[in-house]
Amino acid sequence: MVKVKLLKYTTDGVKLVANCCRVSGIPEMDDEDIVRMVVENDYTSAIEHIYFTFEISEMSIAISRELLEHRIASHTARSTRYNLEEGFSYTIPPVDEEIAEILKEAMESARKYYSKIYGKMLEKGYSKAEAREISRYVLPMATHCTYIWTVNARSLINFLGLRLCVRAAPEMRELAQKIYDIVVKIYPEIFEGVGCRGVNYGVCPENEVRPKNCPYRNKIPTKKELKK
Ligand SMILES: Cc1cc2nc3c(=O)[nH]c(=O)nc-3n(C[C@H](O)[C@H](O)[C@H](O)COP(=O)(O)OP(=O)(O)OC[C@H]3O[C@@H](n4cnc5c(N)ncnc54)[C@H](O)[C@@H]3O)c2cc1C
Repeated sequence: MVKVKLLKYTTDGVKLVANCCRVSGIPEMDDEDIVRMVVENDYTSAIEHIYFTFEISEMSIAISRELLEHRIASHTARSTRYNLEEGFSYTIPPVDEEIAEILKEAMESARKYYSKIYGKMLEKGYSKAEAREISRYVLPMATHCTYIWTVNARSLINFLGLRLCVRAAPEMRELAQKIYDIVVKIYPEIFEGVGCRGVNYGVCPENEVRPKNCPYRNKIPTKKELKK
């Protein structure tokens, strides 16, 4: 199960954002109301001043690739060149027992081959660094990895909009939900009304590929329906 730990964030962000907005001249309003208005009306460049840094661990390499697609963020990975991955842990996605067992067998086999290659290379006189460098080529997509991820509040809304959607991969949704649960407590003014893109825009861009298990299927129109 993917783990999320908040390492650092911009404190006093509501005041910071409100004062940024006041530079342009804004009616007399509370800091909180300014921030809510900025989010609701999508004047969200002002909330780029708020940053969060998370440690994300026990995440599969498969999902880390999706995380890396979010370019408006900073990513630092735990290196598989400088760390020995012998006995690495891994994710078995939610699936029936029989399939889970086959996945496990495949992962255990990869573990064995990792150790075999590493041991053989040391035996042949290669350095530990060289052996780590080569052995890691058998690490499968389910292998756990760790990232430090820094993202600003605006980009995080975009991330949550895409990844809280029922169409996102289950592990990715779990990651997005865990991040959401942390940030909504710190800045409810920003995140309380945030959800998948349908919730954020009041219209769903997924159109006909929207799955049956979408909780908003009969509540939020598709983009195509609205355009008609
Ligand atoms: C259900 C689902 C399925 C997906 N399937 C696939 C898939 O099959 N293959 C695949 O490769 N990806 C897939 N993705 C990933 C998706 O296409 C995006 O790459 C990813 O979600 C990052 O979104 P983003 O570009 O908005 O985020 P960021 O990279 O963080 O960008 C944030 C915003 O900045 C702007 N921006 C960033 N870079 C540029 C740029 N170069 N030019 C112009 N504007 C820019 C855009 O407005 C963008 O929305 C999928 C995502 C989801 C949620």
